[in-house]
Amino acid sequence: MTKKIGLFGYPLSHSISPVFQQAALDYCSLDVIYKVWPVEPANLQTEVDKLRSMDYLGAGITIPYKEKVMPFLDVVDPFASRVGAVNTIVNNGGRLIGHNTDVYGFMQGLTETAKFSPMGKRVLVVGAGGAARAGIFGLIQSGVSMISIANRTKERALQIVEQFVDEEVEMEVVRSDRYELDRVVKNADLVVNATSVGMRNSASENDVPFETGSISPSSLVYDMVYTPRDTPFLVLAKEAGADTLGGLPMLIYQGSKSFSMWTGVDAPINIMFDAANDVL
Ligand code: NAP
Repeated sequence: MTKKIGLFGYPLSHSISPVFQQAALDYCSLDVIYKVWPVEPANLQTEVDKLRSMDYLGAGITIPYKEKVMPFLDVVDPFASRVGAVNTIVNNGGRLIGHNTDVYGFMQGLTETAKFSPMGKRVLVVGAGGAARAGIFGLIQSGVSMISIANRTKERALQIVEQFVDEEVEMEVVRSDRYELDRVVKNADLVVNATSVGMRNSASENDVPFETGSISPSSLVYDMVYTPRDTPFLVLAKEAGADTLGGLPMLIYQGSKSFSMWTGVDAPINIMFDAANDVL
């Protein structure tokens, strides 16, 4: 019987995960369909419950459900629990187990693709959703010295600082205004956009997460948004002379780890990159 993997999110028009996941499944001759599964917020629990059927190997979780899905699972693994976000559900004989592979994807992009060494560095993260949590957790584990967080909804940023209060890193929440962000961005070695601002086909596709003329030319600007490749924020960073990294490597690396969790097979990562590059 053909098995299925779902991709839960809302909306889902931006996602290229179905393209590179299906390419990998086909390459490995696995009889599995990767199915886009847009879920309206009110139906999340009902739809998640359907994953318990033996047809389903599990699901990928994307915006805006990485935190909201957690109460509907049977188990959240300790790592995803510490991050506070789930992006991968595995159906283990009708029991739904939540995992987080975004941390791995984020760090692989940062250290393998951009060759950035996080130890002792100062970081500004804009955004405080599931993706921001994953990035911040990876950065803490790899020894950055200072993390400043700015988010439209300040309360969410405060919750992240509270969650990681026992970790060995200095953290602060900064106001999302130009004066404050200029001050922080000037001294940051790494600036991360973990908001959806700049994503193609969204209301903010022409916007930057914050206006600034202060990006340091010696910094790396990492935009988790992967479509378009050159987001407005990365264009701004290039104009400032900074190094840049888009969200595609993160997407592929997190997807490769999720693929192995669902199928038990090593992911053909080059096939995934080729399929994603074709569609972009
Ligand atoms: P989420 O949990 O829904 O969080 C969305 C974040 O974006 C929140 O901080 C939100 O602020 C902020 N935001 C949204 N619209 C905004 C606007 N118009 N102005 C200012 N801030 C805005 O989503 P997520 O899962 O963290 O994902 C965030 C982004 O990262 C998405 O673009 C997603 O595609 C990308 N991502 C990429 C990868 C990858 O592999 N490359 C992986 C994960 C996520 P509020 O808290 O104020 O709502």
